[in-house]
Amino acid sequence: MPVFSPRRFQMAHLPVERDSNLPVRTFTALERTAKGVLFGCRMCGNCILQETAFICPMTCAKGLRNGFCGEATAERCVVDASRPCTWRLIFERSERMGRMDKLLEVNAPINGAQAGHSAWLPFIKFWRERGQPVLTDLLANRDKFWREWDALCYGFRQPDWWQSDADYHPPAYNTAISRLELELQQKPFIVTAEIEPPGDSATDDLQKKCQLLNKYVISVNFSDNAFATSRMSSLACCVHCLEAGGEAVLQMQARDRSRNGILSDVIGASALGVRNILCLGGDYHNKTPQVFPCQPEQFDIDAVQMLWMLRRLRDEGRMADGREIENRPRYFLGAAGAPFTLKAEYSALRMEKKVNAGAQFIQTQMVFDLEAFNTWMAACDKRGLLDKAAFLAGVYPLRSAEEAHALAAEPGVTIPEEIIQRMEAAFVRDSHGCAGACEHQEVEGRLIAVELMHQLREMPGVRGVHLMVGGQESVVPVLLEEAGW
Ligand code: SF4
Repeated sequence: MPVFSPRRFQMAHLPVERDSNLPVRTFTALERTAKGVLFGCRMCGNCILQETAFICPMTCAKGLRNGFCGEATAERCVVDASRPCTWRLIFERSERMGRMDKLLEVNAPINGAQAGHSAWLPFIKFWRERGQPVLTDLLANRDKFWREWDALCYGFRQPDWWQSDADYHPPAYNTAISRLELELQQKPFIVTAEIEPPGDSATDDLQKKCQLLNKYVISVNFSDNAFATSRMSSLACCVHCLEAGGEAVLQMQARDRSRNGILSDVIGASALGVRNILCLGGDYHNKTPQVFPCQPEQFDIDAVQMLWMLRRLRDEGRMADGREIENRPRYFLGAAGAPFTLKAEYSALRMEKKVNAGAQFIQTQMVFDLEAFNTWMAACDKRGLLDKAAFLAGVYPLRSAEEAHALAAEPGVTIPEEIIQRMEAAFVRDSHGCAGACEHQEVEGRLIAVELMHQLREMPGVRGVHLMVGGQESVVPVLLEEAGW
């Protein structure tokens, strides 16, 4: 167990190509041992310990370098219940040290050529070449020394091909790129929805669902292998939606994708006319309904890095490796909001990171707990995010008391006791009817959803609701009719 970090989840990286120089190999072995004992170091080759309150972020079970995931809980890591969330510890220690602002910088993904090699030797070389700070300033002028030290570390950890920071980068265009963006510019409140992609290659049902929802909502999302279960790709569904005359939102999960794969997918999506992309981290594989064998490394980059990469590609024409392209893809970028994970202040900081990186609209996790949601929105407002991105609140109509209990146990979802009790009362009413009936529960679930929709519409900063219906798309028109919208 390392002294300053949680136990690492994955082994340290090995170099793709071994150092030929024996003294370098010896030094690297010593560095690996020392940093392993102290920090659980995985030899990522680009050390960001100074930014993460000296807890190694690579001990995170997902290997995330820019904050906790949407499934984080205060109790345990969602991947491995025997360990705490590394990022919760980083946030808590940063807060105690008064270094929360350090967490805003968008950290680069790992450079495979550096992983497994010493991080100290290239740092010392970089320092010598730069010539600042000089050690004597540590006594003569401490402020100057630490200012220059910070600049030195920043220069080292932000390679030329990444070049990120902790600042807000507004989109570099003036005219709306997508219909969804235009509607958000012109209307105070909108409704969007989600279609679950088919589990096979049949498209009849998908087309019918697209035609149905196009009449009722501004845009339709297609989930991307939700719960880490393979289905028809979000991109293929988006193309069917466009053919049906609808406005599609491509969901793009970081899980199981490399940065190269993501870039080629979004360039292809743009070429096919898809103009909205929702950047997500993705559920871990152990959440699949059945047990599948899965690959050990599931994350090359995280959602924040994806946003940074896609915004740069669109606004600066730069690929992730620094190459420039001539014809830039065009898309309106979105991100997920997780109001019910860790403390609202932590979650809002992570939200700011996503907005700074490029998120223009935010789709939140399903909202049942209005009080907690309000607290999170206030924390986002305090960070000035409500003017920079359009917040759409997720609404889900519960179908049964059993589902309410199951969802309440999911990390990232909070359902107040009062709602659970209402669903249970409906279950009792159903039990007195025909065997297997759940009419009262479905009606009650819709009633709760409609109440939430009305209350969310009145909440400052909420620009719309996103209806998540778990494959029951025909319920969307019913909900809107019952809401009187
Ligand atoms: S950030 Fe990278 S180099 Fe630093 S301790 Fe963690 S794995 Fe090692």
